[in-house]
Amino acid sequence: MDRHELIVIGGGVIGLSIAWRAAQRGVGVTLLERDGFACGATRAAAGMLAPVAEADFGQSGRALLGLGRDSLAAWPAFADELAQASGMPSRLRHDGTLVLARDRDEAEELERQLAYRQQLGLEVARLLARRARELEPALTPSLRLALEIPGEASVDPRAVCEALVIAARAAGAQLREHCEVAALRRHGGRVAGVVLRDGDELESDHVVLAAGAWSGGLADVPIRPVKGQIMRLRDGAGPGLVRRTLRFDGGYVVPRGDGVYVLGASVEERGFDCAVTARPLYELLRDCAELIPGLLDLDVEEISVGLRPGSPDNLPLIGAADEAGLILACGHFRNGILLAPLTAQLVVDALAGAPLPAAIAPGRDAPHEVLA
Ligand code: FAD
Repeated sequence: MDRHELIVIGGGVIGLSIAWRAAQRGVGVTLLERDGFACGATRAAAGMLAPVAEADFGQSGRALLGLGRDSLAAWPAFADELAQASGMPSRLRHDGTLVLARDRDEAEELERQLAYRQQLGLEVARLLARRARELEPALTPSLRLALEIPGEASVDPRAVCEALVIAARAAGAQLREHCEVAALRRHGGRVAGVVLRDGDELESDHVVLAAGAWSGGLADVPIRPVKGQIMRLRDGAGPGLVRRTLRFDGGYVVPRGDGVYVLGASVEERGFDCAVTARPLYELLRDCAELIPGLLDLDVEEISVGLRPGSPDNLPLIGAADEAGLILACGHFRNGILLAPLTAQLVVDALAGAPLPAAIAPGRDAPHEVLA
């Protein structure tokens, strides 16, 4: 039987980041991906690195904000190092976010969101519609109000994963596509490897479960798929229509910097259904075009569907599971691209025996309590 130091299940942004960082530390790591690399939620993702715009109320909201800000701070070095290791350019964009209000109700809600962020000491500014339109002239004249979050960024998740594959292999990781894990292998009272769909068994000291929305099929974790439909438009005239990430109640527009604009996304509880359906896409296009009318002149390049790995409290599960030998890195829900650098760091730290923040510990009470 093949023997490995570390097996990572799942070749999305989380599994690939972990494989790269572990290989850099000299760990003998093998990553197994059922389909192609980055073909799950990572492929659909818009790539916003937006912890402040995403900040939610309540205890888990604040915990996620803290993790998100730490990971956003880690992104520039992660992207630079990745560019060097892979020979691919870093596509990290630091253009910030505008959160937009179209009418009085939305403007009042923005004031509430602003007050919450100011109370937490976050960098957010209130902009009158006129000032927002000076920054982004493509915005509709009927805009009511905006918040500016200057420190936020975005990346192209597909390009990041292409670079991660090159960098991880160069660091010594073995990465295998079209290799499905059917079950965890248990031996001597612990997880000691995996059983593949073709019946082969691989032995390992540790297994990292990074199978996104499918993680619950391999271990007892409260992860569910949350469907997102998303659209890519291309401006044949090149970049320039919009520079910043624009967010509003129910959607967002993320410029890639090359004339492509990502319009997202629906949030649907439909199990593992991945059908493309008309209504969410119609509503998305209608709402985006209400704010940026020029989007309607662009070419539709792609419509895609992804399954976010949702946990009951929206926080990821990272660290040692109940069973010895198993480490979890799943449940990143809407923020897996943002949280990839931090997650990889925490997992390699956990492998070295370091304690992790309690808020993301797999054994915390909240996930199972909320699910019940
Ligand atoms: P995935 O990318 O889903 O990867 C899991 C992998 O595991 C898959 O490739 C799958 O094939 C593989 N796998 C499953 N089962 C097995 C098995 N048995 N054996 C082997 N392999 C297996 N996040 C942000 O930070 N910013 C955003 O702007 C953003 N926008 C999003 C927009 C949409 C529409 C969606 C759907 C998500 C968005 N997200 C965003 C969330 C982000 O995409 C996810 O949190 C992140 O991609 C999760 O990464 P992952 O590696 O855990 O999962």
